[in-house]
Amino acid sequence: MNFLKTIIGQQKSLSLYIFFTMLALAISIYFSDSLYGIFGAENYITIHLLFEIFIIFFSLAISMQIWLSSKFNRENDSIYLGALFLFLAILEIIHALSYKGMPFFIQESDPYLATWFYMIPRLLLPIGLILILLVKEKHISERVRHLVYGASIVFALGIIFLVYFPSKILPDLVDESGTTILKNTLQYIALIIQIVVIALAIRGLKKRPRRAALMITASVYLIFSDVFYTNYYDVYDIYNFMGHIFQLFAFLVLFKMIYYSSVERPFIQLLKAKEYLEKSKREMHQMAYYDDITLLPNERYLHETLSDSLNIGVGKKALITFEVDRLDSYKRSLGTLYVEKMLKMMTDRIQTFLPQQYSLYKLREDQCVVYVKDHGDSAAILKLCNRLQEMMAEPFQVQHLSLNISVNIGVSFYPKDASNGEELLKFSQIAMHEAKNAVDRVLFYHPAMLEARTARLTLENDLQHALANNELYLEYQPQLNLRTGEILSMEALIRWQHPEKGFISPLDFISIAEETGLIVPIGQWVLETACQDTFNWQQKTKHPIQVAVNLSMGQLYHDDFVKIVQQTLEKTKLEPKFLQLEMTESMTMNTKQITPVLEQLKALGVTIAVDDFGTGYSSLSYLKDFPIDCLKIDRGFIRNILQNKNDEALVALILSMAKHLHLKVVAEGIESLEQLNYLKKNDCDIIQGYLISKPIRYEVLINQYEGIQKNAKEYLRQLLVV
Ligand code: C2E
Ligand code: MG
Ligand code: MG
Repeated sequence: MNFLKTIIGQQKSLSLYIFFTMLALAISIYFSDSLYGIFGAENYITIHLLFEIFIIFFSLAISMQIWLSSKFNRENDSIYLGALFLFLAILEIIHALSYKGMPFFIQESDPYLATWFYMIPRLLLPIGLILILLVKEKHISERVRHLVYGASIVFALGIIFLVYFPSKILPDLVDESGTTILKNTLQYIALIIQIVVIALAIRGLKKRPRRAALMITASVYLIFSDVFYTNYYDVYDIYNFMGHIFQLFAFLVLFKMIYYSSVERPFIQLLKAKEYLEKSKREMHQMAYYDDITLLPNERYLHETLSDSLNIGVGKKALITFEVDRLDSYKRSLGTLYVEKMLKMMTDRIQTFLPQQYSLYKLREDQCVVYVKDHGDSAAILKLCNRLQEMMAEPFQVQHLSLNISVNIGVSFYPKDASNGEELLKFSQIAMHEAKNAVDRVLFYHPAMLEARTARLTLENDLQHALANNELYLEYQPQLNLRTGEILSMEALIRWQHPEKGFISPLDFISIAEETGLIVPIGQWVLETACQDTFNWQQKTKHPIQVAVNLSMGQLYHDDFVKIVQQTLEKTKLEPKFLQLEMTESMTMNTKQITPVLEQLKALGVTIAVDDFGTGYSSLSYLKDFPIDCLKIDRGFIRNILQNKNDEALVALILSMAKHLHLKVVAEGIESLEQLNYLKKNDCDIIQGYLISKPIRYEVLINQYEGIQKNAKEYLRQLLVV
């Protein structure tokens, strides 16, 4: 019953069909007696001709419609249908011409000819429809299209020849008493085949519902016409007339079906494709110009619109760029999903307070930009920045976590700082990067920032080649053991002799090396050179010289670091106990990751010192958790040890704490005898500083060693005297 619903659903004018069908049936049944023979032979020819003209018209229309539309869309089933109707049209023409009462055409008109020219198409129509419904849909070539139509004409001519053959080959279908049994049998066969067409069309309802529904409707009409054609007594009676009416109905519906499948349906498909195209265009635009997490316009959007909008109006414009500080560490510890959620909450929060004339954009690398079209003065912008910071200071509730963030903000102004959108964005980003190191985390762009950045970039570029060009070298600073008075250890310090810029301090280039990752190969070179020099010196003097090498975070976090140390020791033949690795307090932050590395290093036999102790991380708990051997008190505390009571107290505290934890202490930056005196009195183990020696080259150290040692002993002796 479902198929009935589909058939009804597919035909909006079904009620109209039913109305006319009922009307025609009612007239023919009710008035059958009174209308019987109503037309008379003379009138009927004209009436019949009129019907035939309509039938021929629709057959030709179907065939031509398909011929024209199939030029662009060569679907095989449509083309076969068009050819079938061309064939039908030709035979219908001959049928009309050979009808009883028509003037001479090839032969005298007679029922033999007319009925065969009716019967053959009537049989071939449902057979053709069945074949068309069964054929596998595909596209055919232009040549085949011509061939198919040509074949239908040839076939029609063949049939014409067969029927017009001078000696009647075919039996009669009508005699004096009306239609013969053969005629009725053929008519019923046509009817049965038509039912098969209906059955096949029902099967196709799902795939092409409208086409199938119309084909079923047309078939029903043809069946009606078959019933009438088998039941007339005389060609002039009402049943024959009704047969024609229903045949005409059927052809009309078939014409509608062709119109639907060759014009309406492709057109609707075209419309749908257009709609789809527009939708995907919109989606593509959304993807290209909007950030998919925050739904804000993105960097591309900003780039494409900023320069133009800068030129609109005369007001001053500003670009505020900001980023969440330490977002990377959040990503590492929480995962990107949480961070994305937080960014969305952040931009939502900003939008609630941002005035309408300010637009918010989301850039790559988790930066956001506020574009201010017209601002009063820089004080107003600063106020806005501070408000932004306040908004961000309130924690973000992401799942069960309460995240605290702070933002670094950079601002650039148009036309004061930049002449176009690209520059404006670049400058506000530079200011934002600099703001990381500013106290209140907000900076307005200044040309000096660009210069500093350019200089840094050139330095970065030069550093890439420094190692290969032998511009890097080491200096060693001797360390004096206050208990023995011997100098048996030293710290290796890296130096860079730049071919144009001259000497560059490690304080200026180590951070660049760390940022660029160059610290790994550079650090490896330092380690190897220091170990090699120390081993060579040991061989020369037979003294148990120890060397301290500074480490950077990037090296310690490097997967193969322990292996690298081990291989270096093996290669240089230095015993592990003569190597001390210096790490800074900030490296101790990530206890989980660092502890196993330190333990593996300790297992090799090397010792570990914490450099610049007291300047970095505030928690001291790591001192008991980490496998450390030595603390190096930062130069900053030693400098004012004698003037500043706080520094003095701090150094005393470090020394006593170290004693309790069984850690050795090295004091850095000893420049005077007074400082030396203080440290000696307070039981410091080792000192290092200009008083004993500045950092010097390996060869110089070997040459001057005896002198340096002698001087040191002299200082200690003076202390004793005092
Ligand atoms: P640091 O490890 O704390 O090194 C001690 C710094 O203090 C050295 O500065 C040294 O020249 C300086 N110094 C030593 N005694 C005195 C003194 O009596 N008075 C004064 N005013 N300064 C003194 P330098 O050589 O400029 O090194 C600076 C920092 O660069 C080092 O601090 C260390 O953190 C880093 N560094 C040096 N070489 C390397 C290296 O090979 N690898 C790594 N990762 N960092 C290194
Ligand atoms: Mg050091
Ligand atoms: Mg230090």
